[in-house]
Amino acid sequence: MNIVFLGPPGAGKGTQAETISNTKGLLHISTGDLLRQAVKDGTSTGVSAKEYMEKGLLVPDDVVLNIIAERISSDDHKHGFVLDGFPRTLVQAKALDETLRNIGERLDVVFYFAVSEDTAIQRLSGRRTCKTCGANYHVQYIPPLKEGICDKCGGQLYQRTDDKPETIAKRLRVYKEQTEGLIDYYKRNKVLKEVKGDWDVDKTYRMITKVLETIPKHHRRHKEESFLGDNSEIYS
Ligand code: ADP
Ligand code: ZN
Repeated sequence: MNIVFLGPPGAGKGTQAETISNTKGLLHISTGDLLRQAVKDGTSTGVSAKEYMEKGLLVPDDVVLNIIAERISSDDHKHGFVLDGFPRTLVQAKALDETLRNIGERLDVVFYFAVSEDTAIQRLSGRRTCKTCGANYHVQYIPPLKEGICDKCGGQLYQRTDDKPETIAKRLRVYKEQTEGLIDYYKRNKVLKEVKGDWDVDKTYRMITKVLETIPKHHRRHKEESFLGDNSEIYS
């Protein structure tokens, strides 16, 4: 099952993506996390991404497409994946369609997290992120058990530079200009499901799970499956 979580920054995509991928055994791919890791590691991808991220701008498509291609081609997504924060432009959406087509797969559902601008701003400005594992918290709504410390790994929590007020406003604008159009794109492809991002975490989770239960398990054509293997019942 291949899923995309689409929506403005602060809509709650990351929180849901983490839970859903854990319970459904899907690979959670967050381009934001991958990019932040690249920045931390000082790789060439990280070096070119850093200035865009700090300004709240989108990292160029070719850079993002490279890290996605690397991730999807690795062999740990047997049950599928949850893409969180990708695609963010039409170029990325089309590239994703093509990548999936090439490996005989497709998107099953795109969840669009609709959220008011006020809620998004509130969520982002109170967000705290783990330095070590990237888990997200909120000072008010999802506080860690111990202030400043990650429940999952004991790492230190910090406020991302792009979660400061000026950059938040910029990111919301960038979303409107460059990403919002994907809602129509996926509506036309008949895979879009809207989720109210203003709901509480549990209610949103239940809604997503309910939708996932209605999705038929399609046969995944793996490259390694031979033609004979696919039609073995004819010969047995
Ligand atoms: P949020 O969803 O809270 O905006 P992310 O962690 O998804 O945060 O992204 C952080 C930053 O990483 C973005 O502002 C952007 O600079 C960069 N980024 C992440 N994903 C993409 C993408 N698909 N295309 C371009 N830039 C991206
Ligand atoms: Zn952690």
